[in-house]
Amino acid sequence: MFSPAPCEQQREVDAEQVARNDAVFRAANERIRDAAAGLDAGDPLPFICECADLACRELIPLTREEYEDVRTHATWFAVSPGHEGGSDGASRVVEHGDAYLVVEKLGRASDVAEALDPRGGSWTSEHAESG
Ligand SMILES: [Zn+2]
Repeated sequence: MFSPAPCEQQREVDAEQVARNDAVFRAANERIRDAAAGLDAGDPLPFICECADLACRELIPLTREEYEDVRTHATWFAVSPGHEGGSDGASRVVEHGDAYLVVEKLGRASDVAEALDPRGGSWTSEHAESG
């Protein structure tokens, strides 16, 4: 029987973990957008960098229109310039804004990103942070 090389398997796990981290930031940004809508706040809004680094606390200015554009794609994430790497080639830059970049998840990471998309239908409160 064929079994994949250990390093190959490890990379898949890493890509999945990275995508899950990104999904956490994405969920937080959804709440920022909702809160801003209730306050009738102006644009741009301070959204959280959705890069692979869980410790990253960078804020990126996005208008609601720009944010909605990113969110129309389950596999797209907005990150601070310079934060587009770090996921071992599992993503690529698709848009360059003035103060932010948009990256698209590829391969296994994109599968996870789609599965965790809060607007994709498969998102359950079980996975969302309550608070
Ligand atoms: Zn970042």
